[in-house]
Amino acid sequence: MGIPAIKKQNFPMLIGNDWVQTPRIRPISLPYDGTPVAEVYDADAATVDRAVVAAQKGAKAMAALTQYERSELLQRMKDLLERDAEDFARLVTLEAGKTIREARGEVARSQQTIAASADAARHLQGEVVPMEAAPTGRGRWAITVREPLGVIAAITPFNFPLNLALHKIGPALAAGNSVVHKPSENTPLSALRLARLAIEAGAPAGAYNVVTGTGEETGRQIVNDPRIAMITFTGSPEVGREIRAATGLRRVTLEMGSNSSVILEPDCDLDFLLPRCVLAGYALAGQVCISLQNIYVHESIAEDFTGRFVAGARALKVGHPLEETTDMASLINEAAAERVESWIKHAVSRGARLLTGGTRRGAIVEPAALTDVPADEDVCCKEAFGPLVVLHRYSRLEDAIEAVNASQYGLQAGICTPDIGRAFESARKLHVGGVIVNDVPAFRVDLMPYGGTKLSGMGREGPRYAVEEMTELKLICWRG
Ligand code: NAD
Repeated sequence: MGIPAIKKQNFPMLIGNDWVQTPRIRPISLPYDGTPVAEVYDADAATVDRAVVAAQKGAKAMAALTQYERSELLQRMKDLLERDAEDFARLVTLEAGKTIREARGEVARSQQTIAASADAARHLQGEVVPMEAAPTGRGRWAITVREPLGVIAAITPFNFPLNLALHKIGPALAAGNSVVHKPSENTPLSALRLARLAIEAGAPAGAYNVVTGTGEETGRQIVNDPRIAMITFTGSPEVGREIRAATGLRRVTLEMGSNSSVILEPDCDLDFLLPRCVLAGYALAGQVCISLQNIYVHESIAEDFTGRFVAGARALKVGHPLEETTDMASLINEAAAERVESWIKHAVSRGARLLTGGTRRGAIVEPAALTDVPADEDVCCKEAFGPLVVLHRYSRLEDAIEAVNASQYGLQAGICTPDIGRAFESARKLHVGGVIVNDVPAFRVDLMPYGGTKLSGMGREGPRYAVEEMTELKLICWRG
């Protein structure tokens, strides 16, 4: 099958209900081979200010909607996204460089994220507080209500430009807030297209505003604006740390990276897990925050697993992202690919064995697998965010759990054994935001609570959980 032609498009920003351009044009190109795909505009300081003012009006309009009305708005957005699914998938491929099949998967998940947000809007509720259960509570009764915060800033990364944005925009609107969204400067297209869709769905003016530009300039200005009540950020720990330091007493959620691990016990279901491990290691060229980076495999099955895993990695078809049969395409840019290549070379220089892959051509790195890697090498203990997997052998489960817990990250981990007792005990001991039993750590559905410990972040996403972060709990207490 051939590669469909690429026609260059132009995407202004959305502020209030206005499409806004600045003289500062930013070209967007296909990460795979640099083909120009679009032009967007970098915001200047006045544009960001205008977006915040528009969002303040939008916040009032959103707070005035009933929960039912917010839910219906989100449902309409979901229906429109379903209608335009293929357009969105193509945009995601063009900006992020992931394969068209992966992009379709992202758009399908994005519909689930909005659906779960519509559901969260309907179910946002407080409770009756049993005041008379306190010695001084006689004659009092109380309820809690959840109120919107106002303007929420969403700052998002390049790897899931649509779905991770919707994990912020969906719950923010469900909770009655407005949003100023700054997508990654590498991948702003699907967000700008989403803005058009929000208007078509009937979002009030200023409910959803998209400003584009770099993190250092536009991102920083947004973060430092005191009119913004909350920052919800997904990205790297370096930037997350800076945002946390800059926001003082304002609310922040941080969804950051990891070097995720799976533990494969001797009795695990290898026939199921082998293709899952290959997929989890190399999907999106390893650029998933819960990509499988470290596999701890019991010594009794290590040889069998290693041979079959390497064969699986070699069988992946690396190629152009718009080609239907491609399994894995490029990284986001050449600099990212060079970093991955240099980490692999460094590990090999210290005695690691490269079992397959690792060669680089431009922004493409062949799916790599390493073993016998010193534990302090970057390929093991930093976030690779590239197509590389490290295989470790262990003999005692406690040692594997200890190795996983030694990570500076803690997003999700997998433990694979049919023995319920061992699985449950391991799940209790693993210091991560989510334990996936009998599957890879990359498993996620969009309604589940999702977030990390340690450098992986603070706060939880998943619309039902995110609306709690994006609302203020108010107590109303009566006497008499
Ligand atoms: P990044 O941190 O470089 O950028 C993320 C966003 O922050 C971008 O929009 C960027 O412009 C902005 N930004 C950069 N500097 C800023 C600053 N000083 N102030 C405000 N905003 C700033 O991340 P990336 O390279 O786009 O994405 C990869 C990272 O995202 C990886 O670490 C990955 O693990 C993480 N990630 C985490 C999750 C999760 O849910 N935990 C999901 C996807 C990606």
